[in-house]
Parts: sequence; structure tokens; C-alpha cells
Amino acid sequence: MYFMNEKIIELLPEDKLLQCMHCGFCIPHCPTYKNYKIETASPRGRLALMRAVAKNELSFTKNFSKYMRLCLLCRACEDNCPAGVSFGLLMEITRAEIEKKKKKSILKSFILNIILTDQNKLEKIIALLRIYQKSGLQKIIRKTGILKIIPPLEKLERLLIPLPVSSLKKNIKEIEKSGSNTRFKVGFFLGCVMNTMFADTSRKTITILKEIGCEVYIPKNVKCCGAPHGVEGYRETQKKLARFNIDLFLKKELDFIITDCAGCGTALKEYKHLLEDDPEYSEKARIFSSKIKDISEFLWNEAKLRNTKKNINAKVTYHDACHLIHTQKISKEPRELLKIISGLEYIELEDADMCCGSAGSYCITHPDDSIKYLKWKIENINNTGADFVAIGNPGCLIQIMYGIRKENLKIKAVHTVDLLATALNLE
Ligand code: SF4
Ligand code: SF4
Repeated sequence: MYFMNEKIIELLPEDKLLQCMHCGFCIPHCPTYKNYKIETASPRGRLALMRAVAKNELSFTKNFSKYMRLCLLCRACEDNCPAGVSFGLLMEITRAEIEKKKKKSILKSFILNIILTDQNKLEKIIALLRIYQKSGLQKIIRKTGILKIIPPLEKLERLLIPLPVSSLKKNIKEIEKSGSNTRFKVGFFLGCVMNTMFADTSRKTITILKEIGCEVYIPKNVKCCGAPHGVEGYRETQKKLARFNIDLFLKKELDFIITDCAGCGTALKEYKHLLEDDPEYSEKARIFSSKIKDISEFLWNEAKLRNTKKNINAKVTYHDACHLIHTQKISKEPRELLKIISGLEYIELEDADMCCGSAGSYCITHPDDSIKYLKWKIENINNTGADFVAIGNPGCLIQIMYGIRKENLKIKAVHTVDLLATALNLE
């Protein structure tokens, strides 16, 4: 049953909203509550607001929208809720309704509906950024601080990491075969950011998969997983992308579909919820989602990787990406994989599961708050005295790399796969 309020919020599932029993167990885990210390910036407060608006007890105001947008969608609340409230789903539906009611942003719509629905277009933009970096223009721009006159652009630019020489797609075959006996036939979901900004890491992921006996199918016409569209309330575009990706992978007989991007992994695992009311796709989405594995989950639980070949004499700590720990419940696997690397000393990070403030476009839409969450994270990382901080998500990597640069620290942020590839002698 749904609250049906034509004017305010439509289609908020009543049963899911009423699940909240106001216990407040989620509150200590909420970064925005820690920051603002007010009920409306807490998960319980947000749910109360959603319920009130849905029941027409409260008007749909700018303030309502503000507290919904202030949420990082980190889903730490969901992970710590004894009643099993699907906070992420409720927030995505709420944001979709906010999006419908407000004036459309042409720029946002262009980015989400045109650029982020076609990886080739994104590659062209990244190619221009590569020229910007290689030509030395970036150095001049940063030195002069000229971008400060356009604050959103300056905030975006400062996050830019050194880009690889080319995207990964250009340098791989659609089917990469294992040199040894084939243990698994897997698909590899090459995410937009991994393909263009962390091409070397995803290349290592594929190399590791081949090394442990996987034949890897990497469809080059894959589309964005739809995660940014879900967060921004573009649910119809998200559904179109989901249907396309499902058809693309299900035409092959695959044991698993692997991703090395936590954000993509969450979105792909949730296709089954996204399309549950679609008569043609609900069953296909269920099958597709059941095959999705994060690389750490696959290597530890399915491939049973337990040994590496080369020592790494260093200290490592680990940051839990929200989209691994809170949504996919993956926290043990990457830690166990790091611990099998001989010579590598593992140090636990304080508040490892607290959001780093990246949160998709949050670092651009709420730059000051984002920096605050990053500052907490960087302080904790620095306190470990580690040489590396391992991370399983490109968004967190970009954000934490920026925090490290800003504070001029020696520690290096790497993907867990980067360390594994070194330890397996596969670089
Ligand atoms: S998703 Fe994160 S920021 Fe949003 S209410 Fe839940 S814990 Fe707080
Ligand atoms: S922990 Fe769950 S039930 Fe308790 S207040 Fe938070 S959302 Fe509601």
C-alpha cells in the first residue's frame, strides 16, 4: 500500500515508512547528525519529515528539501537499524519526487541524461581533461587560483587526480582468457570512473581474475550502473540503464559478474528492487543482481584466494566505503585479503565505516560539509601511522587522495586491488 498524495510525495511505501519505531539506534552512526546535532539532520528526523509530508501534515517546503539533500545517503543508519527500515530506498524515492517538483536544472539533466548514459561521451570529456593536465594548464590554473571566481568549478577541479594515459576499454579485449584451466566464467562490469580515471586498477583486477583461472567477459558498450541517477532522483533514466546492462550481461552464460567499484556494485545488486514492478524485467533483474560480486567478495569467498607471492613491507589501514559496508555488508573480505599479504602490517582505522564526505555529487553540492567529514577521516587515517590506506571505491579514493594532498601527508591512498596485484607479482 502507498501513501497517495498527488500534490506532495507520491508512492512512498507506507509499510516501509511505518517500520521506524523511533528508537534512535541509528542516530550515533549518522554523520550529518554528528555535524548538525539537530533531529531533522538525523535519519529518524528525516523519516518523520517524509511521513508528515506524505500524510499531508506538513507542506512541501524548501526546508524539507534541504534536509533531504543534506543526507549523504551513506546508509549507515540502515545498517544499524533493528527494524530494518530501507532508508536508502525511501530517500531515493523522496529525492525523485523533489526532482519532479522543482525547476529542472538543464546542466544536471545534461550531465545525467546525456553524458552519464554514454561512456564514449564521458571518455571524450576525460580526454580533454588529460590535455588540460599534460599541457601544464592545470598547474597554472591552480597556482593563480583563478577558478575561485567560479566556486563550483574550483571545488570540482581540486578533486582531479592525475589521469591515466588512456581509458581501459581501449586496451582490453572483450573476452580475456585465463592462461590456466578455466575455473569461472565471469563478467566484469567496467564502471565509468574506473574505466577513465582508475584504468590501471581495473586492468589489475582483470589480470588477477585471469591469474586465478577466470575467463573474463568485458562488454565495451556497457552503460553507467545508474547510481548517480538514483541519488539525484532520476529514477526513470536509472531504470533504462539497468534494463540495458541486464540484457548485455545475461546474453552470456556467466557464473558471476564482478565489479571493483563499490558504488556500481550496490546499484547493480539493487536492480532487483529497482525493477521489481516491471513485468518484463523483474525476474531478469533478480538473476542479474544475484550474480554481482565485489572483487574482494569474489576473491575471498568464491575464488578462496589465501596466498600471495611477494612481500610488501609496509603498514596498511582500511577505509570502509559506505557502498561496501553499509549496503553490501562487505567489511571482512577486503581486510582478510590485506592480511594474507606477507610483510604487510594491518592497522585498524578508527571510525573506518564513517563516510568520507565524497558521497557522489555531495562533495560538489555541499562542499563545506563534505570537507568537514573528510577532515575527520583524514585525521583518523593519519593517526594510524600507516603507509597505505586501502579503499574499494573510486569516489572515496578521489576524496581521500584530495585530503592527503591538502594536508601534505606521506600516506598513499590505493585500491585494495593495487596492493593485491603487487603481492601477486602481477604489475
Ligand atoms: S544515509 Fe547517512 S547521512 Fe543520511 S540519514 Fe542515514 S546515516 Fe545519516
Ligand atoms: S534505528 Fe531504525 S527504527 Fe530506530 S529510529 Fe532509526 S530508522 Fe527508526
